[in-house]
Amino acid sequence: MSVQNTLEVVRSSAQVWGSGSGLRSLPTVSKLVDTSTCIGCKACEVACQEWNDLKAVATVNDGDYQTLRTLDAEFWNLIRFDEREVDGGIKWLMRKDQCMHCAEPGCLEACPAPGALVQYANGIVDVNPAQCIGCGYCETGCPFDVPHFSAKTGKMGKCTLCVDRVSVGLEPACIKACPTGCLHFGTKEQMVALGNQRVSALKAAGYAQAALYDPMGVGGTGVVTVLAFGDHPEWYGGLPKAPRIPLAVTFWKKWLRPIGFLAIFGAIVGAFGHHLYHGNKGHMDPGPVGPDEKG
Ligand code: SF4
Ligand code: SF4
Repeated sequence: MSVQNTLEVVRSSAQVWGSGSGLRSLPTVSKLVDTSTCIGCKACEVACQEWNDLKAVATVNDGDYQTLRTLDAEFWNLIRFDEREVDGGIKWLMRKDQCMHCAEPGCLEACPAPGALVQYANGIVDVNPAQCIGCGYCETGCPFDVPHFSAKTGKMGKCTLCVDRVSVGLEPACIKACPTGCLHFGTKEQMVALGNQRVSALKAAGYAQAALYDPMGVGGTGVVTVLAFGDHPEWYGGLPKAPRIPLAVTFWKKWLRPIGFLAIFGAIVGAFGHHLYHGNKGHMDPGPVGPDEKG
């Protein structure tokens, strides 16, 4: 599904304004992940590594199917496997772990480096390596534990939603590689409509709790996920039930930082007022020393 796209930045970390012109109004792009048809083949993991030129990350064989325990600065798409006992039977529950491209990104809120995290007009959240200082604060702001630090580059790494492909009208590499059609790409509106159709089909098939995961605590996500057991998102590799930006981050951004700016502004105004009132009386130039003062 091809959608019109852009690299126009509308929101930028540690800056009050984004740099977008605001003239064009573009639809938010989204992925739909239907976990009920995922077979855990990991074609999406391989496609992500290949397209993004990410090197292989060493794994440990723990006797399960997990490639890695968590996402990594150089591994942006991880299929999580969960084995659950449901209604007396065993079920495999798979989930595609990646950046969720939140409408209100906690990573961007938390980041103190101007322009290191940006949100484009089509909703994609991206790291700008030229500005990233590798401090890791974005990690503390993310309710999905997504950005990771690379010791090799000194920067943070995470899924870009294949912004390079999307900006020229292509779908993300993982979507192209998926053999079961459980991954879709289009506008948010299209993906929510398609996801709701799948939820209705699952309910008709006996999964009464089926639901579309698009949590409003982060303003909704750019990756919407169909869950057969929608009342238990945590069964899918610990997907948080009600994710939100951590309070400490909101507090810093909404209160402490503005108070800091006000304090600095107040100090500047105070110094200027003091200068106007007292002039530079205390710093008079004594002038050249006269001949009779030389003794
Ligand atoms: S999932 Fe985490 S890294 Fe991705 S946009 Fe949301 S807060 Fe940022
Ligand atoms: S390619 Fe599709 S089916 Fe295979 S693991 Fe990824 S999401 Fe699941």
